[in-house]
Formats: sequence, C-alpha cells, structure tokens
Amino acid sequence: MRYSGQIGLLGAEGQKKLEDSFVTVVGCGGLGTFVSLFLVSAGVGRIRLVDGDVPSESNFNRQFFYPGTKGFKADILAKKLKEVNDSVTIEPICEYLDGKNGNRITEGSDIVADCLDSLESRLILNKFAVNRNIPLSHGGVDGFLGQVTLVIPGKTPCLECIFGNMNDVGEAPKSLSSSVSMIASVQATDIIKHITGIGETLAGSLLTISMDSNSYNKVGISKNPECPVCLNIR
Ligand SMILES: [Zn+2]
Repeated sequence: MRYSGQIGLLGAEGQKKLEDSFVTVVGCGGLGTFVSLFLVSAGVGRIRLVDGDVPSESNFNRQFFYPGTKGFKADILAKKLKEVNDSVTIEPICEYLDGKNGNRITEGSDIVADCLDSLESRLILNKFAVNRNIPLSHGGVDGFLGQVTLVIPGKTPCLECIFGNMNDVGEAPKSLSSSVSMIASVQATDIIKHITGIGETLAGSLLTISMDSNSYNKVGISKNPECPVCLNIR
C-alpha cells in the first residue's frame, strides 16, 4: 500500500529494483537531507548517510530535521528517516569523506549522491566513485542557481572533466530551503530513473536551473580526454 501511489509510474519491476538498491548519500546538509528523504520515501532498500558534522543553527533554514537535536547529523538524519519509512535499512557514517576513507564509504553502493558543499570534497568523492566504477549523481546549489548531472564512469564526463580546472570558492553557499529542495528533487528523481531504467537521466548532460529567472538549461558535456580520473577506471 505504501507505494501504491507510484507503482503505476514505476511498475512492480521498477519498485523491486528500488527496493534492491543501495544508495550512498555523501553530505547530510540541505541537499542530503532532501535527497535522502525522497529516496527513503520512494522505497530505496538501503541508504548510507555520510557526514562528520553536527547541526548548527545557521543551517536550520534548510536542514529541518536538526533543530532541537544533539549529536552527529548522519545519526540524527538516520533516526528521522527511519520514522518516515522503517522498511529501509539506513546506515549512518559520522565521518567526513577524505582521501583515506573513500573506499569504505563508497563500498557496495549501486550509486553515490554528491550532496557536498565544497569542490575539493566533491572531487575526492568523484575520484573514488569513478575509480570503482560506481555511478555518481552530482547536485549543487548556490543562491538561486543550481545544477545536476549524472556521472557514469567510462561513459560520461566525470566531475574532474567538468570542474577540475575550477577554483573552490572556499565558503559555504547561501541558499533557501525551497531552492535546495528543488535541486534535490531533480537529483533524487534522476537517481530513481537511473535505478529503475525509466525515463531519460542526466547522464552526459548538465542541467542548470536559474531560479531567480525561472530558466532551465540542459547542455551536453564532453569528456576531457586527458582526465586523470577517467584514465584510471578499474
Ligand atoms: Zn573525467
């Protein structure tokens, strides 16, 4: 009954694929909160939540599960999401992704969701995911601007191909909950489409949304033939 509202869309086979899937969400800030909520609600079977941070009041405008709680974000989010759907296996890892724990954090995942907020950590996640042939859904929000793409290792450009020559701005992006949830919606829907094989994903395309002018732009992106990450796929 829980999924009867979406089975007409996904089919029993698509729903089963979701229930058999394992998604790792890296970053439990605004994007990660919404992406994991949407995936848990849709019935993804297993979700790993990764973040070494603790809640802070300045984030509460877009991280609505954390006010009044104590502890690590990944632990708190895991408990809250269990209340949303207790049939999902939720595994919190209260650590920041770094160059050492990336293999353990991505281990066994069918797809990873990049819900991070710095270019440096996104490129670390990209390296581990691509090297291990794990698809990666990238979402980013800064102000009224947002973007989403899907990396399929060996087939599409990776984040190093796209953003490798950019500089990290070094400060946390500013955003409204409503614009964060919009990008998270696109990202979670793309993950569900990838898992179920229904619809057209953003593999090989970068979707940018300018919410201040309500404009959407989807462009094809190309691989960097000299990308050191793409040249190192297992
Ligand atoms: Zn690449």
